[in-house]
Amino acid sequence: MKTKLIAFLGILFLLAGIPELVKPQSIFEVMKLGQDPVIRILLYKGTIPQKITLPTGSEVFTSIGVRRITPQTQCLVALKGNSISLTVGDNKFVSSDSLSIKIPSTETFLLDGNEYHGSLILHYSNNELLVVNHVDLESYLQSVIPTEIGQGRKKQDLESVKVQAIAARTFTYGKILSKKASIGKYDLLPTVMDQAYFGTKSENNTYRVAIAATNGMVGVFDSTLIEALYHSTCGGLTENSESVWGGNKISYLQSVYCGDDTSSFCGASPFFNWERIVDMKRHNTFFFRQIIKYVEKNPAHPIFKNKTTEKIEISGRDSSGRVLGLRIINGSGAEVLAQGDYLRWLFPDSTGKILSSVWFDLETIRSDSGELEQVHFKGRGYGHGLGICQWGAVGMSRRGYTYDQIFRFYYRGARIVKLY
Ligand SMILES: [Zn+2]
Repeated sequence: MKTKLIAFLGILFLLAGIPELVKPQSIFEVMKLGQDPVIRILLYKGTIPQKITLPTGSEVFTSIGVRRITPQTQCLVALKGNSISLTVGDNKFVSSDSLSIKIPSTETFLLDGNEYHGSLILHYSNNELLVVNHVDLESYLQSVIPTEIGQGRKKQDLESVKVQAIAARTFTYGKILSKKASIGKYDLLPTVMDQAYFGTKSENNTYRVAIAATNGMVGVFDSTLIEALYHSTCGGLTENSESVWGGNKISYLQSVYCGDDTSSFCGASPFFNWERIVDMKRHNTFFFRQIIKYVEKNPAHPIFKNKTTEKIEISGRDSSGRVLGLRIINGSGAEVLAQGDYLRWLFPDSTGKILSSVWFDLETIRSDSGELEQVHFKGRGYGHGLGICQWGAVGMSRRGYTYDQIFRFYYRGARIVKLY
């Protein structure tokens, strides 16, 4: 009799790109942060020296005073023993803690080919160098919004840009106030793990006007900040919070039909329907490496080293139709139940792109000898499906809905408040 092990591939939020559910933040705590608060974004973390170009007029705050930079200078920040050192021309500033660099408000600095507003703090932390950008929230949004909702939005799309700005501002306030951020040296990562931030190069005047029209606005439910989640394309129906996080329903994050009597709002998305064919012979090594990574703490895990897949089947769906789990059985009879958004990471294409969503059907193709050769996926949507469907918001904007109507359509029962 074959040994049977059932291992659970849990919902690995950090890998899967769905933010952890954090404690609801009271709107009164949000208001204490004041108007247009300064936020901290981690631009670099590691051990590799970084070149930073500082504009003329920058000021480096050291233990022995303030050093003014003139003219514009390319500097090098690097680890040195248990310290960081900043080389500016012939001068070197060293700190075992942190160095602050104030940039003139009308100027920008350069790091790794990107240009940023705001100031810089260089930290030494756990044998690593941290480069952290301190910048005003509204200035940060000017960079983030075009990247998050996509470049090239036209006048007819501007209501969707506004609602994206409200969601991103709300999400950012939530990060500032979360316990994890408050004990750290930064609030946000510059990637899609939080919000994609590449500095000034994504800024554009059309977006600037739309973002300014929502200045200081955030989403609230009762007297707490909402979990302002958004995703690219729902595929026709958004997702329920409890399908992703379990526990009680979050009333403003419930599945809504993304459309009207005529058609889906997100129908223009290139991701509305998708297909993928995975060649299991080519894929098996990667596939089992992913699974072993998860189960290696389990003493029975060596049986997963049999790198053949016997069967892959859908174990259940939630009420929106998204797949809740995949039952994967290997050549030794070991069984894995892979659950949640993590499923998307198990079947990358040849470029490493993960499955667009967990809303799919699958068909398995076998060789004449019965070996599992291919898995065909046919799916809908792109992203986790929670909250605002960005392509749906664009579709609503084009059909004449206002940003307030779009906000209340996706976050049922929530409302917009203006903090400043
Ligand atoms: Zn949609």
